[in-house]
Amino acid sequence: MRKRIVLLGATGSIGASTLRVAAAHPDRFEVVGLAAGRDARGLKALAERFGVRHLALAAPNAEGIPHGEEALRALAALPEADLTVMAIAGMAGYAPTLAAIDAGHDVALATKEVLVMAGTEVMRRRAERGVRLLPLDSEHSAIFQCLQSTASQPACVRMGAEPKAEERVAEVILTASGGPFFRRKAIDWAKVTAAEALNHPRWSMGPKVTIDSATMMNKGLEMIEALHLFALRPDQLRVWVHPQSIVHSFVRFRDGALMAQLAQPDMALPIQYALTWPDRAAHAPVEPMSLAQMQGLEFAEPDLDRFPCLRLVFEALPQGDWTHPVLTLANEVAVKAFLAGRISADRIAGVIETCLEQGAAPFDEIVRRAEAAVGA
Ligand code: MG
Repeated sequence: MRKRIVLLGATGSIGASTLRVAAAHPDRFEVVGLAAGRDARGLKALAERFGVRHLALAAPNAEGIPHGEEALRALAALPEADLTVMAIAGMAGYAPTLAAIDAGHDVALATKEVLVMAGTEVMRRRAERGVRLLPLDSEHSAIFQCLQSTASQPACVRMGAEPKAEERVAEVILTASGGPFFRRKAIDWAKVTAAEALNHPRWSMGPKVTIDSATMMNKGLEMIEALHLFALRPDQLRVWVHPQSIVHSFVRFRDGALMAQLAQPDMALPIQYALTWPDRAAHAPVEPMSLAQMQGLEFAEPDLDRFPCLRLVFEALPQGDWTHPVLTLANEVAVKAFLAGRISADRIAGVIETCLEQGAAPFDEIVRRAEAAVGA
């Protein structure tokens, strides 16, 4: 039987890659629901192409598509679906993710903010409901693939008392492209423009995650995501800069084996693995990698002085889980302000640091503090 998929974030770049995978495997997947932010016409066009009846939008629209948080939650929990792909950017993905879990759907999760903000709660709920959380991010898919074994299971898909994959792990090394500024000798963050920061050398992504990639905050958020998905400790996390984006991450096991997953930097591959897991498909809509691409792969420790956002994450994580929502919400507010031309890029780390200094707080209070720091 075909796997029935609901896709939230259909008009974004992850959405496009997900639909490319679905189109490449009409025998395996059926798209039964689509949601987007505000592009009503784009959503309608996709619905027609894939023959999808159930739609939802975040924003009110003239097309008569159900809209608002309740509509997104209902779509995420669509009874006829088997799996929900969550690719709505930012905090807006939180409530629909919980709705999908509560409905008993496995969730392929691209929205890292969901785990960063509320990873403990989301992981508890998924275990209670007996649903799996399948990582879509390329790094987390790589780690997930390295952890696959017949003897033990990673935390995000473990049911009951199965042996724990993390007990075999010494450390997890997330690779990072380094973004557009990695090769610069000195980065003057005060002078970085949004256009420069949005010009990413390897990955084509939405504006928020592209800015996060330029500051390397994206890797910081991915560290938090990894902590939750794979039940790791902060001292087990490393970051290596790898500009070619061919090795998507490493796991070093306690027996000394260092395992990596290598593939083209194309999101269709991690998405496809999440959709076919625990199986692998017989083909993919991506050119296979050649040996020539593997010549001269580079790896370097990130210079935390040049990437203060990532430094703040390394410093904050040992202080506890309360730092996770502070890091992501303060960053989200600051990046929005930067993209709107309200603050310079060097202030992004400043806003995050100010919010960390103010300690634990409910989500809305963290956002209020970040807004105040932006205005200051
Ligand atoms: Mg990533």
